[in-house]
Amino acid sequence: MGLDLGGQTIKAVLVSPSGALLDQASLPSGGDTDLRRLVDMVATLVGGLESSAGETPGSSAALGLGVPGVLDSAGRLLGSPNLPALQGVVLAERLAAALARPVLVENDANCAALAEGLGGAADGELDYLLVTLGTGLGSGLVLGGKLYRGPSGRGCELGHAVIVQGGRRCGCSARGCLEAYVSETATVAMVDELDAAQRSRLLARAGQEDRGLAHSLFENAGGDEVAARLVGQMIAALGAGLASAVNSMDLPLIILGGGLAPVFMARVDDIRREIAAGLFARGIDELRTVAAVHGRLAGAMGAARLAGLAGVGVG
Ligand SMILES: [Zn+2]
Repeated sequence: MGLDLGGQTIKAVLVSPSGALLDQASLPSGGDTDLRRLVDMVATLVGGLESSAGETPGSSAALGLGVPGVLDSAGRLLGSPNLPALQGVVLAERLAAALARPVLVENDANCAALAEGLGGAADGELDYLLVTLGTGLGSGLVLGGKLYRGPSGRGCELGHAVIVQGGRRCGCSARGCLEAYVSETATVAMVDELDAAQRSRLLARAGQEDRGLAHSLFENAGGDEVAARLVGQMIAALGAGLASAVNSMDLPLIILGGGLAPVFMARVDDIRREIAAGLFARGIDELRTVAAVHGRLAGAMGAARLAGLAGVGVG
């Protein structure tokens, strides 16, 4: 069983050993989730899925949980702008104690990367990078068939690779991070930097369309010069970041996921042109760029995979 704690909802999935989705459930997660509320939500979702599957509540093995934040190798949440009340909490240990079962906690993008490796866009692949495009820019790296976490558990964070020296301020407080140029947050900042007339025109249109600003810019890039320029800048920045990742790690496969993946994938030829301009040893023909397939359940599916793999020490 796997769960994914997001900003708006917490999702849970029951998955077969081969990775097939058997059942799912979700609850609104609200804003500032503390440990007591997290335990309650997880217990409710897990109990519900177990009883609908005809299992005795509490009988399942390990649980996996994806969270939007950086964790150390002990499972302590080090940094998560959306979860201040859980900062510094050793989530795996505290949840395991409260729920009386093993719990594995992992960064949500890492979970999504694991999910794509089983019945997803990277099924059977040993080396790939998943980039999630949404409010921020997350990434999960699988090398040699294993999730790469780094020696302290904090990798991989391609969103905070610096692509513009001294550039735009990132949410992490550094300057010039890829996330500050490619994400919904980056789009808001870019529009904010425009002159007042252009800014209010783009904001008004996004408001009328009732969708995020990045979505709106991509959809209107065909007929709006300013939208086209900003989208072009985002595509160029993403291409530069991905080319750097490929040059550093000799990656044959990049998967784009997250809520903004569809609009970026619609421009995949332009993204590949930008990647190609920055490639060193590997040619663009030796690099595949594909869309993630697990969609909004990717984090929970990957967390379930993590829980299923825990007993045999893989993942
Ligand atoms: Zn950053």
